Amino acid sequence: MPLLTILGMPPKTSQEDLVNLTKRIQAAVEKVPILGIRADAVSVFYQPDLQKEGLGEELIARIDGLFIKPERTAEVIAELRAAIQDCMLTYACKSVPQCTYVETFVASMVKPEDCTVNRLRTEFCPKCQGRGGWGSDTPCDACGGTGRKSGK
Ligand SMILES: [Zn+2]
Repeated sequence: MPLLTILGMPPKTSQEDLVNLTKRIQAAVEKVPILGIRADAVSVFYQPDLQKEGLGEELIARIDGLFIKPERTAEVIAELRAAIQDCMLTYACKSVPQCTYVETFVASMVKPEDCTVNRLRTEFCPKCQGRGGWGSDTPCDACGGTGRKSGK
């Protein structure tokens, strides 16, 4: 969290463009002081527009799941919006010539305690080769192994 959904993307947008825009948005969010959100905590998803008429004319960034915290005042949220809007405008001007409308809005903020997160293992269990269990500190569900390489 937070998560951004970019709406209105032409389906043929190159992977390189998407990866670059994602990185710029993540870096922009990280740079907003007070927020304290790391770049890798920002999820960016793209929702392609299937309608050909008017394709790419509107690009909209929807922000969801921003945690409610006392220091996240209206001014701080406005700064976040401006940072993302700036990325969107730069992208639209450079890569979407037909674009005439760019919007960024915060759709939802949530209490941190209302969010459940599990980071899944990226390694397989060295004992049973399964992926049982969530997180490297918990034992493997299947065999009880820790999922860590021996000696660590
Ligand atoms: Zn195992």
